Amino acid sequence: MAEVILQNISKIYSDVDKHMGRHKAVDDISFTVYDKEFMVLVGPSGCGKSTLLRMIAGLEEISEGNLLIDGKRMNEMTPRQRDIAMVFQNYALYPHMTVYDNMAFGLKLQNFSKADIKSRVMETAQLLEIEDELYKKPKTLSGGQRQRVAIGRAIIRRPKVFLFDEPLSNLDAKLRSQMRIELQRLHREINATMIYVTHDQTEAMTLGHRIAVLNKGKLMQLDTPMNLYEHPNNKFVAGFIGSPSMNFLKGRIINETGLYFENESKQCRFSLGKDLEASLGSYVNTEVILGIRPENIFLKDDGSLSDCSLEVLAFENMGNEQLIYLSIGSQTIIVRRPQTHEIEIGDKVALSFSRKNMLFMVDSTGQVIDTTVLSNAGSGKL
Ligand code: ADP
Ligand code: MG
Repeated sequence: MAEVILQNISKIYSDVDKHMGRHKAVDDISFTVYDKEFMVLVGPSGCGKSTLLRMIAGLEEISEGNLLIDGKRMNEMTPRQRDIAMVFQNYALYPHMTVYDNMAFGLKLQNFSKADIKSRVMETAQLLEIEDELYKKPKTLSGGQRQRVAIGRAIIRRPKVFLFDEPLSNLDAKLRSQMRIELQRLHREINATMIYVTHDQTEAMTLGHRIAVLNKGKLMQLDTPMNLYEHPNNKFVAGFIGSPSMNFLKGRIINETGLYFENESKQCRFSLGKDLEASLGSYVNTEVILGIRPENIFLKDDGSLSDCSLEVLAFENMGNEQLIYLSIGSQTIIVRRPQTHEIEIGDKVALSFSRKNMLFMVDSTGQVIDTTVLSNAGSGKL
């Protein structure tokens, strides 16, 4: 069992940013990582991911809040007492030691018998598929193999909780995606609680059972990958998750025998339809942001009524898909098509926006307006 509970955890660096007063690198974060869960913490550089992880590890003092592992408060415990292992981006292997000795080192310090050490090293090497490298020195290994040894050093101790801080950032793109698959397998086989930090949303989406999205020290949303993608709570999450990013159009809801959305430059104006009307009625004449993903905008070439007609600024043919960049006012929106079609820069194209995939946000706060209630729930009963 290894359940990790964060209760209102904050980290305050008071000495650095004097002009800002107390700088909260981590601001009142609470969540539970379940036993055997693979939890990912994701967010842009500087949002507090490493600080949070280091507080869980015991490498950084917790300024406010409680950290519980299996129900016990850990704030004052040393890293060793917490029974946690951590793998960093800049893993430092001992260069003069073989792979075997690098992995065995921690166990030797803990006075494990030679036979026990050997069986654990062998088992771990097998798990990581580095059996053939055991008697080599780190400098003769590839980047991916070295990272495996670093992971091996962590798992050989069989700790309760594994912490990873951007462990794949130094690897090239191909190796990174290969290691992602390895890590999934590893998690299944050793069946431990893992907390994994990355700034890369693709990595987060592929690895996490659940993902905590952080920004400026605050927890923006904690959810499954699919829920973050389909039901973001706010503009930050909507824009952070997904690549290319969700399109955002500033505009207003207007009422003209039915509700319409009109964007700032007035190039787009379209009826919202019954389902959206039920939940957007109270936002008439307020500034809103329409969010729509590139794959939920379609090109119309059948001449029927479109939502928007825009000029092509640029396009990218990827082979399996096409990205089209269109200009709207001072903004650009991206449309993604599943195949490559003939298109020219300067073409005027008619678009239709998928109503059921539209997200509306309050402009001033970025909060997503709940439009999931069906029209018959407007009576106040759910
Ligand atoms: P991330 O890992 O998400 O990139 P960090 O946790 O490293 O972010 O940093 C979060 C914030 O805390 C940043 O603004 C960073 O400058 C600040 N910070 C990190 N470590 C220290 C420290 N030892 N002293 C003062 N400020 C720090
Ligand atoms: Mg970091």
